[in-house]
Amino acid sequence: MKDLSKYVRANILSLAPYSTARDEYSGELGVYLDANENPFENGYNRYPDPYQKSLKERIAQIKGIGTESIFIGNGSDEAIDLPYRIFCEPRIDNVVAITPTYGMYGVCAAINDVDLRTVALEEDFSLDTAKLLAATDAKTKLIFLCSPNNPTGNTLAEGQIEQIAESFDGIVIVDEAYIDFCEKPSMITRIASHNNIVVLQTLSKAWGMASLRLGMAFADPYIIELMTKVKYPYNINGLTQRVVLEQLERDVQSESAQIVASRKWVVEQMSKMPLVKHIYPSEANFVLIRVDEPKALYNTLIKSGIIVRDRSKVKGCAGCLRITIGTQAENEKLIEILRTQ
Ligand SMILES: *Cc1c(COP(=O)(O)O)cnc(C)c1O
Repeated sequence: MKDLSKYVRANILSLAPYSTARDEYSGELGVYLDANENPFENGYNRYPDPYQKSLKERIAQIKGIGTESIFIGNGSDEAIDLPYRIFCEPRIDNVVAITPTYGMYGVCAAINDVDLRTVALEEDFSLDTAKLLAATDAKTKLIFLCSPNNPTGNTLAEGQIEQIAESFDGIVIVDEAYIDFCEKPSMITRIASHNNIVVLQTLSKAWGMASLRLGMAFADPYIIELMTKVKYPYNINGLTQRVVLEQLERDVQSESAQIVASRKWVVEQMSKMPLVKHIYPSEANFVLIRVDEPKALYNTLIKSGIIVRDRSKVKGCAGCLRITIGTQAENEKLIEILRTQ
């Protein structure tokens, strides 16, 4: 176990967070004349719960973890940005991330004026642990890993992530945005034994709620307390809290299973096409393919009304397009167009 407090910026350790009216009185019934709200009920006139208590209780049940280990953010974006603000001294500290990977880690590094060091994945997109650790130094506060990784689709082994968490003297963030499409278990269960692991998940992918903006971080209660202290007081609006609680009752497992089955079908179809030079193994709801003329194929698809993500300019992804798995009809349309190229 690591002494987490030594990674925290001094101004955050001593921060007195904003105290809301509901912090000072949290009883359920009464005449509320403490928050300067409009008293006429319309369903939206009251401030939402700043700690999302009901939502956290439901998520705790679903994930099998205590509410004190859960942070809820305005998308994963907020949960990616907060560790920079909590742990990284601008222009002094640095972070290490794999590449290619999700773009937000780099954007948040730039916004927070923190140096981002990237470690290239191997040709098959596996990670060389020694190379990753060699990129860290005494000023490295965060390591960003993503599993299944975007845009490559592959996963990192649990043992490898644990080894990194043990060797690294700082916080290891494991982004599991696509974990619900994957057979590997979440790293959530490893937080208890590795208190420097932060696991990120989202409702934007398998749960089908991208529009509602809700991301989650699972971590040691000490880290969750810091994130809660630094976040905007009402970071999850009342409408989102209410609708998400309803939507969490939907059975999304059958949808995810359908998407995984469709992915296998799409891969099978594409593997017969000479046009497709390589299909990278994916455990997510997309596949990364390599072709000879990515830009031309991208434009052809656009003309047929299909938009995919051109990743060919990304380092390590030359020739690559990232294709999200759609409905069966959408996937069939895609395959038909590819077949006639
Ligand atoms: C899509 C995605 C997210 C989700 O971000 P939200 O802000 O929660 O919508 C997070 N991480 C990765 C790697 C993603 O691809």
